[in-house]
Amino acid sequence: MSESTPLSARARLAVTAGKAAAAVSRAAGRGSGSVIGGRVALKFDPELLSRLAGHLDVVLISATNGKTTTTRLVAEALRAGGEVVSNALGANMPAGITSALSAGANARFAALEVDEKYLIAVAQDVNPKAIALLNLSRDQLDRAAETRMMAEHWREGLQGTKATVIANADDPLIVWAASSCPNVVWVAAGQAWKDDAWSCPSCGGVLQRPDDTTWRCAECGFGRPTPTWVLTGDSVLDPHGSTWPIHLQLPGRANKANATSAAAVAATFGIAPQVALQRMQSVAAVAGRYDVVQYEGRDIRLLLAKNPAGWLETFSLIDPPPAPVILGVNARGADGTDTSWLWDVDYTRLTGHPIAVIGDRRLDLAVRLEVAGQNFQVFDTAAEAIRNSPPGRIEAIANYTAFQDLRRVVGN
Ligand SMILES: [Zn+2]
Repeated sequence: MSESTPLSARARLAVTAGKAAAAVSRAAGRGSGSVIGGRVALKFDPELLSRLAGHLDVVLISATNGKTTTTRLVAEALRAGGEVVSNALGANMPAGITSALSAGANARFAALEVDEKYLIAVAQDVNPKAIALLNLSRDQLDRAAETRMMAEHWREGLQGTKATVIANADDPLIVWAASSCPNVVWVAAGQAWKDDAWSCPSCGGVLQRPDDTTWRCAECGFGRPTPTWVLTGDSVLDPHGSTWPIHLQLPGRANKANATSAAAVAATFGIAPQVALQRMQSVAAVAGRYDVVQYEGRDIRLLLAKNPAGWLETFSLIDPPPAPVILGVNARGADGTDTSWLWDVDYTRLTGHPIAVIGDRRLDLAVRLEVAGQNFQVFDTAAEAIRNSPPGRIEAIANYTAFQDLRRVVGN
């Protein structure tokens, strides 16, 4: 770790201007103001990001699914070694990252979630010690070809990087992206969603999957590297062969995978896995996700799932039938405007659950559920859907803006 260096006058001015803009934005009732603040600060000093990160040991975390949660787990783990600055609310583009770092003058570590498209640019600015690559799957059907292009973009941008890259050996696109890096720590974190990874990223050949744990291209030999960190059931196997139990408040297999990757990240910063995993246990919710809120006598668990891979993982962690399920779908800008991805999800996993359908695109989803033979009702509002469910636990699964809408309704 380098000594903390005072910021230049220009950088100080940029930070001050950014904070002022954030305060104005907050006063105007537009959320935390972190993004607008960061945008203003970067205008004053385009090199601010690299200046703010200069004294920090930085890890960047990127993925299609799980990056906000994994960043939170990593931040908790690193706190065992010193103060951590993080974009905990998921503002993951350069402006949001700048804003987060401007609060880190006294920090030792920075745990930063980065949007897939900005990973390479941010990595060039902040000189990270570690980069974690978790998974790449499509967000919407019209973006199917983009996952392959994103892997290629990462591969080119990360070639020769000095950072230790912590990468998921079970996702062929991640392996393709990371295999140009000189220093990779492979993690067997699993991949429930395989539909985006049937063709070889290297040659386009068909990937062979003789069993659930391995894959290999018959044409060119590109295949799964041998991982040194492995998620096995409810435990993490570390590179020394020791097994450490995972105890999380966060539900589901996907979060155990996130914890495994987070433990591997923490180890590159000198934090032992048992210490890291114990600290992760304190995380109960992440930016409102997984929160259980009381509303109208019901306990509503808020589950964000943005794409087919996310819905698949989420269906696997909900309470068994007859727990009522609310599904919310919007197709506004942040969600992607094409809802055809709804047809890629296997809804038979919801059989036995009474389903309430809400959101701007509730009729698109209703058609899909009808075809899948599911038992559902359509409601105009979240409040109606909740009131129609029996008292007790409700599992509410929604994509990005539908999730924000739902949080507003239930006051979380
Ligand atoms: Zn191949």
